[in-house]
Amino acid sequence: MRRPLVAGNWKMTTTRETGTSLGKDLAGDIGNSIESVDVLVCPPFPYLTSVANAIGGSGIRLGAQDAYFESLGAFTGEVANEMLTDVGCSYVILGHSERRHVMGESDELTNKKVVASLAGGLKVILCVGELLEEREANQTKAVLDRQMAGGLAGITSDQMADVVIAYEPVWAIGTGKTATPDQAESAHAHLRKWLESNYNSDIAAATRILYGGSVKPDNAAELIGQANVDGALVGGASLKAELFLPIIQAAVGTVA
Ligand code: PEP
Repeated sequence: MRRPLVAGNWKMTTTRETGTSLGKDLAGDIGNSIESVDVLVCPPFPYLTSVANAIGGSGIRLGAQDAYFESLGAFTGEVANEMLTDVGCSYVILGHSERRHVMGESDELTNKKVVASLAGGLKVILCVGELLEEREANQTKAVLDRQMAGGLAGITSDQMADVVIAYEPVWAIGTGKTATPDQAESAHAHLRKWLESNYNSDIAAATRILYGGSVKPDNAAELIGQANVDGALVGGASLKAELFLPIIQAAVGTVA
């Protein structure tokens, strides 16, 4: 049985004040949800420490939104995995569509980051997902295959225990357009098959595959309730405790 994970990607949005107060609200209200699902928040780099303090003791995990592939050194503007573990991060999001399509990051660069973050002791959430024109041209599966093969190149079966996949159709991120539960389930089932063909059936059965793309309290239960959907990566709706907590509750509701 895969334990659901609900992760909040705060992107470049919060201030120290709003992030700390959101962290405190979540920590105060998370209750015993944390016993059946993993919950993660990924604040902007400068506020990792203040948010770590705000969620301290609640069981909510801290994650980063990116990391560089080199160790400490002369890489102006970048953040190393050592720094992230040092401030209490246990997860890092890599290959997010905004990194791929706004910053122009390739599968090759994403892969270097995946390799380095896993070696650095972080769990990796590897994001994959197609553009609208790729979906319309029937290329969704080919894009997912390419991003999986590219992002996971050289990652061993043992290391896969620390990898989470997030299926995030680019056309659904921050747009209010959500994949239908059937569209999500079909992409997730394809990703799980990819894991079976390229690793083995145990890894395919154990790896968590999150859905991301305009997840909200009113669509979360149906999406997370799909057989191959193991939680959610949430952007906009993770920025308000009154929206994020019901999504966590929806994940709790899928646990038998
Ligand atoms: C995201 O940024 O990963 C995301 C899914 O954003 P939103 O929930 O706002 O679509």
